[in-house]
Amino acid sequence: MNTDVLVVGAGPAGAMCAYLLKKAGVDCLLIDLAVFPRDKICGGGLTSKTWHLLLQLMPDFNYAFNPVSDVHLDIDGKVQCDFTIDDPIRIVQRRVFDHALLQQYIAIGGAFRHEALNTLEEQADGSVVAILKSGERITCRYVVGADGSNSRVRRYLKPDTDRGILAMEQYVEKRPENRIDVQLSESYTRGGYFYRFPANEFDAVGFGDTATTLERFRRIMREQGVPAGKERGAYIYLSNDYPLHSHIILIGDAGGFANRITCEGIYNAFCTARNAARAIIEQRPFSETNAAIFRKMRREERASNYFYSHTGFIVLRWICSHPSLIKKIFDRKMKRGPQ
Ligand SMILES: Cc1cc2nc3c(=O)[nH]c(=O)nc-3n(C[C@H](O)[C@H](O)[C@H](O)COP(=O)(O)OP(=O)(O)OC[C@H]3O[C@@H](n4cnc5c(N)ncnc54)[C@H](O)[C@@H]3O)c2cc1C
Repeated sequence: MNTDVLVVGAGPAGAMCAYLLKKAGVDCLLIDLAVFPRDKICGGGLTSKTWHLLLQLMPDFNYAFNPVSDVHLDIDGKVQCDFTIDDPIRIVQRRVFDHALLQQYIAIGGAFRHEALNTLEEQADGSVVAILKSGERITCRYVVGADGSNSRVRRYLKPDTDRGILAMEQYVEKRPENRIDVQLSESYTRGGYFYRFPANEFDAVGFGDTATTLERFRRIMREQGVPAGKERGAYIYLSNDYPLHSHIILIGDAGGFANRITCEGIYNAFCTARNAARAIIEQRPFSETNAAIFRKMRREERASNYFYSHTGFIVLRWICSHPSLIKKIFDRKMKRGPQ
């Protein structure tokens, strides 16, 4: 079989990229190893910059969400503050949300198949052959790797790649407060925090840092008063060592594009999906169409070193005792994004 573009993975990055390509009339096939609707471990929080971008890219997309404006921030169990953000965070259930996104692509005539990628082979004429688990070979001009943190496409380009940080989550019964809880602590290793995000049907409660284990997760849940539940874990790949290739493009978590400080990933999944579609449609290098995101990732890397340092925590505790200031910072960060 031949296709112009093969998009591997139908999460937010892959479904969006395939949708934009299809809209532009590009011959494209989207594959995913999962049967949809499938769940994805995730807090499901769409910040205002994310849902505004989604509205811009898919104006007629309707989806269910729980809008939350109240935030409770706790630093080390010592300093707490409560504030209300201007634009609510929309909490979605990934099982429902990702399925609805995929349906948007299928509704405009997009081709989708339930298939798993095994590996890739490059041909002398510049084309790429995707070899599926079923043994089928698909020849294409471009492969877009949107297959998440454990990406096979990335492993083809960069076999020595690590898996990133392990985050764990469980769903618990909803509590009456429609509020997001976040706890940061110097005792968590870099990038770690506890969160509770209220979706429509349940609260998603999670934790992840560079030292996550099941025991550590359970201890933190106990400390936070969360009842025992069914734990699930997933890696978040975070790396600025992006393997550029003219015909194989990595987007979303496969490319290591989640936020270095918060691990928010859906926003950059959409941004990189749009930038990959642009690169293919306009025949420009991804390094150019995605330049603003590459710059942002490097800035975030530097910022996260400071944010999670001892000095960073001193500043955080001080900021946390000034709720109006922290509200201003949150509002600014959630609205901002590279164009
Ligand atoms: C615990 C946790 C909480 C999070 N909370 C938030 C949050 O609140 N807000 C936020 O913005 N981000 C959050 N994130 C990050 C967010 O979940 C990811 O950034 C986002 O899912 C990335 O989308 P994606 O499309 O790149 O990858 P994914 O959503 O992982 O989709 C990848 C797809 O590829 C498919 N696939 C994998 N391998 C293959 C293969 N070989 N062949 C075919 N298909 C394949 C998978 O089945 C999957 O459907 C969280 C992450 C974690 C782990």
